This record gives sequence, structure tokens and C-alpha cells, in this order.
Amino acid sequence: MEAATIPAPVQTVRGACPHDCPDTCALVTTVQDGVAVRVQGNPQHAPTAGVLCHKVSRYTERTYHPERLLQPMRRVGPKGSGRFEPVGWDEALDDIAARLGAIAARDPQAILPYSYCGTMGLVQGESMAGRFFHQLGASLLDRTICASAGAEALTQTLGGKVGMKVEFFAEAKLILVWGSNSIASNLHFWRLAQEAKRNGAKLVCIDPRRSETAEKCHEHIQLLPGTDAALALALMHELVVNGWTDEDYLAQHALGWEGLRERALRWSPERAAAVCGIPAQQIRDLARDYGTTQPAAIRLNYGMQRVRGGGNAVRAVACLPAITGAWRHRAGGLLLSSSGFFPVDRAALQRPDLLAGRTPRTVNMVTIGDDLLRRASPAFGPAIEAVIVYNSNPVAVAPESGKVVQGFAREDLFTVVLEHFRTDTADYADYLLPATTQLEHWDIHATYGHTDVLLNRPAVAPVGQARTNTDIFRGLAARMGFTDPCFREGDESLCRSAFGERVDFAQLLEHGFASLQVPDAPFAGGRFPTASGRCEFFSAALARQGLDGLPDHVPNYEPAGGSNRYPLAMISPPARNFLNSTFVNVQSLRDIEGEPLLEMHADDAAPRGIADGQVVRVFNDRGEYLCKARVGGRARPGVVNGLGIWWRKLGLAGTNVNQLTSQRLTDLGRAPVFYDCLVEVQPA
Ligand code: SF4
Repeated sequence: MEAATIPAPVQTVRGACPHDCPDTCALVTTVQDGVAVRVQGNPQHAPTAGVLCHKVSRYTERTYHPERLLQPMRRVGPKGSGRFEPVGWDEALDDIAARLGAIAARDPQAILPYSYCGTMGLVQGESMAGRFFHQLGASLLDRTICASAGAEALTQTLGGKVGMKVEFFAEAKLILVWGSNSIASNLHFWRLAQEAKRNGAKLVCIDPRRSETAEKCHEHIQLLPGTDAALALALMHELVVNGWTDEDYLAQHALGWEGLRERALRWSPERAAAVCGIPAQQIRDLARDYGTTQPAAIRLNYGMQRVRGGGNAVRAVACLPAITGAWRHRAGGLLLSSSGFFPVDRAALQRPDLLAGRTPRTVNMVTIGDDLLRRASPAFGPAIEAVIVYNSNPVAVAPESGKVVQGFAREDLFTVVLEHFRTDTADYADYLLPATTQLEHWDIHATYGHTDVLLNRPAVAPVGQARTNTDIFRGLAARMGFTDPCFREGDESLCRSAFGERVDFAQLLEHGFASLQVPDAPFAGGRFPTASGRCEFFSAALARQGLDGLPDHVPNYEPAGGSNRYPLAMISPPARNFLNSTFVNVQSLRDIEGEPLLEMHADDAAPRGIADGQVVRVFNDRGEYLCKARVGGRARPGVVNGLGIWWRKLGLAGTNVNQLTSQRLTDLGRAPVFYDCLVEVQPA
């Protein structure tokens, strides 16, 4: 008789999605025999509603990927060749600490941390890493690569990264989805917009691309890239001339209306139509909808701020709800980011006090290409001698990547990369250290799309020899003789430190999430967190910096039609199945995407002799890349959409769309201008 098989115990573990997405979903991981077998959305968490996006529902495929890095590696081939040999943790960390120590003895500013939102977790992000680099006195990194233009714009207008509570979009009667492909990058908001639509709301998408979202809205306003502020000012014009303003709200809760009103009156629909490349009547109709429908809500996303005038554009749009008094309703107003509501104690996590009075230089992550190639100078300080990359893939995602590659290829640069996979950046590492994924570590999350804190518990033990980012920095700190007790703090304790007493940790342990106390209509009675307490159309802080105190249309550095050599404006929105450069190596998702695509309108493709599916060369003075043309309805004439962000080595010719983007910066927030880029396209 056969022995009865005892079923393996099955456990479920609560967590949080770590990816750079406003939805910050609550996860439930099913674990059997110590192996994660399924990752699902937590049905008890209202914003998640039990549903994950296509990408993260395959998270186990990522965690147990056959190409996952499972042990520390040391470079044996030339930089960029991706040739490594295995090495033990102790040997790797001893050598890294010795090499960093030698550089720091000359000038610690020659060491640069490089990180972003590969995880949004507050602990595996910048907690122990921040402590380590502060104690070292390394260069500071200006983390600007995604959101800082919009963040600065919101701060100068509303007083912080604050806005509507996302759940009330479901009650709006008009929703403007502005600069966002929500179906691809804000799925749970889209569910609420659909609910509003079923209840009779009108949905309008404002986007240069006819995205999946645009085609499902009632109306699509397909303006040229970098012209959103002109559209917003023309809307204000129409609100004024038609008497659709809320003068009472303006008088009580806005600052600078007189000046903004005067400026808006110079932006007739015809003038804006010529700038935006859309019919004037479309602007009039949109203004009528916005001025006469309550509650009216705007879901802004980060697309519009990736151009020279991106900060001003966000400021202009952020003024609209105060002009119509839309903030009076809980389903009215605007949401770009809710992250300013979260009382994160970053000082406790990152300990800037460990700088002990030192003031290292700050390097902008956008200009890493130029900065890695700079020599020492009084203006710049020491040349960069070492880069420690974690939670980022700069060789693929930073602009003007030809220069980024040249910088990382420097034989005299010491590069350490903490990663899950052998990314484009990992290929340039001297040491490649295997990091844990979200299923293997503790973390705690704020979000920028709703108002709940989420706790992530480890569901399984680290795979292979992977270590948490925190553990790697603790190991380096010990070897470098950093004796402050903060370098011995464990990850669960760091999770508690993130919010201190301001969030109920017991509730997080029990449920996995806890809601912040945010009023349903936070600005119904004004009380904006600005210096004046009002919505600041006029920003005295900007004026003091010598900048325009009022929002205006700031033309692109490279405006559409502005060059005979490069007549096409290119934007590079994310491919639907990738999240920045994450997931590009997940085979099932890459299979859906197929190959790097450039969407073109037939009016631009035909005169160039380009047919759908043909391989094309996209180029400008910064470089070129090869991809397949997708001729069809997603691109408007004069604009091409280079979907990103492919790993260079998984693309057609070892480059990607960022070969063409520039290192110039936005008007506010020192951010990149990925969508302010002129190109030409030819058959390859
Ligand atoms: S929708 Fe966003 S937060 Fe939710 S699982 Fe997908 S990437 Fe993560």
C-alpha cells in the first residue's frame, strides 16, 4: 500500500507592488513548499479591487526567471561585454569597500550613487543606501528622471503633490485624461473612469498619441507635443469670456487671478489652435464642457511634463479647477500625484545628519551621459570615479544614451550594479550583485495614485544568493568601519521608522494597508498647503528665482516643424507591456510587444517610401536607432511615437529610443525632455 501523500502547506502573504505606477496595488502571494506559485490582487484593498495588471500578475515569472542573477559576479571581459565570473559575497564586498575607501580618501564626491524607482519601496529604495552615502560624503543625486517638473509645478501652484482622492473620479460628470495612457499605466484609475462613464460622464483624452485610452474616450484632442499650456490658457480665455468662472472661489482661494486672467485673454482659441495643431472649435467645445459641467475632474499624468515647458504646462492645467471652483466637489479638481499627503519620515530613513556639516555637490541623474565624461574642474568638482547603481538601468533609460554608454565604458570608472538581471547597465559593471525581488524582502510603500500606506512582507526566502539592497549596504558599511548603530537597523524596524507613530503599524501588519486621513474634498474651502493658503496662480517663490511668476506656454526646444533636417517630432511613451525598462526581459511580455516600434501616420510614411512593418532608421544629430514602422492611426501627422523602453541589447541593432533624446532640462524641476525631440525617419 502506498503511503498517503501529505499536501504541502499553502500560505498566503500580503505585499505591495513595488513598481513605478500610481496604482500601488496590494498583493497576495500564494506560497507552497517555500515557492511563490501565484501573485494576485488583494480583494480587500479597495484601490486594487483584487485586480493586478497583466505585467505584475506574472510576477512569479520574473522572480524565478531562468536568467535571474543568483550570485555575485566580477567582470572578466571588457566593459559592456557582459562577461563575468562568479565570486563570493565576502570577496566582492571586501574589494568594493576597499576600492570605495581608496577613492573616498582622495575625495568622496568622486563616488556617485545612481538610483531611481526600480522599486518604490521606502526601505529597499533610499533608506540604508542613503545612510551609507551620507556617511561616506558621496555626491548627492538629483533624482529627476521622471516626475520632478510636475512635482515642482504642483508645489508652486497647490503647495505640494496633492489633489483629488482617486476614488471620487467615479462620481465625476466630466473627466479630462490629460497626458496619460491610463489603460497602460494607471489601470485602476481607468476602472473608476469607466464607472463614471457608465453613470453618464463624458471622457476626454488629451494626448498627442491616439493611445488605447484615447480611443476609448468620447473625445480625443490630439495636440502637438509641448503645447498643453497653450491649450490650458485658451480654455481659461473661454471660461472668462463666457462667464464660466467661479468668482467667489477665485476671490477667496486663489492668488494672482488678475494677472493670469489678463494673460489668458491673449490666448484666443484661434491662437492656441495654431500652436496646438488642432481646430479652434475643439478648444471652444472643450471649454464649454469644462466650464458648464460639475463635477469636473482632471487626471493628469507625467506625459505632458517631458518637454522644455513641462513645468509651466502642469502649472497652467493645475490652475483650471480653481478657476471654475471644481475643487468644491469631492469628484472635482485634479490629480497628478497624491504623494504629498504621505507623512514619510525621510530623515529617519536616510539620515542626512550623517553628512555632519559636509555639503557634497549634487549631480543631476538626467545628465549622467555628460557628467561621466567630465574631467575634474572647479565648477564640477572631481571627475566621477565610481558609480553604484541600484533600482535603475541608466544605460537604457537615461537620455542621449550614446554618451551614457561612452561614460560607463570608461576603463577607469569603477561600477557596482545591484540588480535582478543582466540589464544593459549590468553589462558595464565591475561587480554585479544579485538583489532580492519584492517577494523576498520587507518594505513599506507610500504611493502617488491613492492615499493608502502598504506593507510588503517577504513571501519567500531570497532566491539563490540574492541579498536585500539594505543588507548589501549594511555589509559595505561594516567593512568601511561605519560604527553608527543605524547601520545595524533591520528591515522590519526600517519599515516602522518610515512613518513613525503617524501610521498604525499594527494595522499594516494585520491587513497589509492603512488609509491616511485625507478629507474627501481637500480644497473645497481653500486651505491649500501653499505659503498663502491659496491656489497660487502667481508664485512669488518662482518670481524670486527670476522666473515667470505666472504659468505660460513655453515652446519646445525642438518644436514640431522647427527643422528642415528633422521634420518629425518624436515622443517615446511606454510600450503597454513594459514599465520603463522593467519587464522587457520577461519573454511572455516581450512576445506580445514583438519588436521596438515607431508609430507613424500614413501622411509621413508614404512620402518616405515606408510601409507598415518595414525596418526603419530613426535619427538626429545625437544618434540613430532601428525599429519597425507601424503605420496607422496612433500617430498624428508630423509626430512619431517611438515606444519604449526596450533594453538596447534586446532591440534591433543594440540601441534604443534614448539614443535620440537630449540631456536638456525642463523649465522647472531640472527634469528630462524626452518628448521634446526632433527626428527624421528613413527605410533602413
Ligand atoms: S497596476 Fe501598477 S501597481 Fe498595480 S500591479 Fe500593475 S504595475 Fe503594480
